[in-house]
Amino acid sequence: MLETIRARIARACAAAGRAPDAIRLIAVSKVQPLDRVVAVLEQGHRVFGENYVQEAAGKWPGLRDRFGPVEVHMIGPLQTNKAKVAVGLFDAIHTLDRPSLAERLARLAQDRGACPDLFVQVNTGAEPQKAGVLPSEADAFIGLCRGMDLPVRGLMCIPPEDQDSTPHFAALAGIAARNGLAGLSMGMSSDFEAAIAAGATHVRIGSAIFGERSYPPRG
Ligand SMILES: *Cc1c(COP(=O)(O)O)cnc(C)c1O
Repeated sequence: MLETIRARIARACAAAGRAPDAIRLIAVSKVQPLDRVVAVLEQGHRVFGENYVQEAAGKWPGLRDRFGPVEVHMIGPLQTNKAKVAVGLFDAIHTLDRPSLAERLARLAQDRGACPDLFVQVNTGAEPQKAGVLPSEADAFIGLCRGMDLPVRGLMCIPPEDQDSTPHFAALAGIAARNGLAGLSMGMSSDFEAAIAAGATHVRIGSAIFGERSYPPRG
């Protein structure tokens, strides 16, 4: 429920001594039935997250026609060959994680004269199956992206499922601070309050707003 989550965010902000408007609530609508997404739009929410380019491309142009400007964030792995569609569709990309993608985005940004806000994904748990640069490689990769004039606004992480998220959030905040980055995309349905305590600026919340995702992803 959107209202419940907003209230919990406000409480977490109060507990952390932070202003509630310091947190961007990204409602993660991947693979949710359209009527649930429409219901959240009808409650006035205008910031959403998607994991799959094809699914988002099939959904958001029509919803933007109907509801007006909606900020849509790409939070799933981005294939280089889908980068062109992605830069035309998304306001932010949270999963910049390799030089080949940075180079592609830089070329597209030059052609368009605009680029979505970018977050570098950091694999804080160094999990082999997970995307993201390793913490030890983050400073160099951020420098590489900045050298290409890419608008890197912050960092993103997905902590290991079987661990306490707090040390991972703290590690991400440390990398951001030493690189002068203000944005911290961290915290999901199960751990967003801890993320807010650790300095999150963007929380990505799906099932706690929309209900469980009951069918497999498309695209
Ligand atoms: C699906 C997803 C979320 C939302 O997860 P919930 O547990 O449903 O809140 C957040 N971030 C990323 C990267 C995701 O893929």
